[in-house]
Amino acid sequence: MLEICALASGSNGNSYYIGNEKEAILIDAGISYNMLVKRLEHASLDKSKIKAIFISHEHTDHIQGIRGCSKKLGIPGIFSQHTYLKSLKRHQPDLYAFFEHDVAYTIGGISVYPIKKQHDACDPYSFRIACNGNNIGVFTDIGEADETLQNEFKKCDTVFLEANYDKEMLWKGSYPINIKHRVDSSEGHLSNEQALELVQKHASAGLKTIFLSHISFSNNTHELALQTFSRLNGKYDIKLTSRHGISEVLRF
Ligand SMILES: [Zn+2]
Ligand SMILES: [Zn+2]
Repeated sequence: MLEICALASGSNGNSYYIGNEKEAILIDAGISYNMLVKRLEHASLDKSKIKAIFISHEHTDHIQGIRGCSKKLGIPGIFSQHTYLKSLKRHQPDLYAFFEHDVAYTIGGISVYPIKKQHDACDPYSFRIACNGNNIGVFTDIGEADETLQNEFKKCDTVFLEANYDKEMLWKGSYPINIKHRVDSSEGHLSNEQALELVQKHASAGLKTIFLSHISFSNNTHELALQTFSRLNGKYDIKLTSRHGISEVLRF
């Protein structure tokens, strides 16, 4: 059995849970230990199964809870070496290990493949998690869907896919002009349309579930993201994630 959910997703905190019968991993620790435990309990997920937390990049919304979560759960944060060294001291857990690009990091029955991505951090990664014959992608904070991402996307049956912004809302909105350029650049975030295009062009026949993730509070709405993805005509199970609470838990 697999259990998969977003404990939090968005610019004020990200954490994704992927577990089997015996063990689980988190991708990112952008929320506090207390909030993490509250959300796990809400969904009847067992915190003692979590064996490691993989960190995608050093932005606060992905890393601010890592020291506390690592210490209180007694498990390591797994980083790229560069990200660990570049992270603020208060975000460097005492227990840690390093991963390398495209080299599987295996914990029990779960293998995590770190995949380099385009984003304005020092050494940012997406992850593909292989478990029980399934492949789960965590694809957020990506400026551009490059060939590496397209190839990884094809392998996945479940994805957390960034649908960060609606282009019109972004450019008509109140963000400073330099931030608008950053979000819309090849080192920023994926828009609803860019995410849709990735699915339309690169999904394999095996893709079943898409969690729309890292949805902006200022430059997008759940309704607009869903409306964009409605063009897929019900071909996939589309689920929402939230910055305020846990998503639906996918169990299969
Ligand atoms: Zn982020
Ligand atoms: Zn980021």
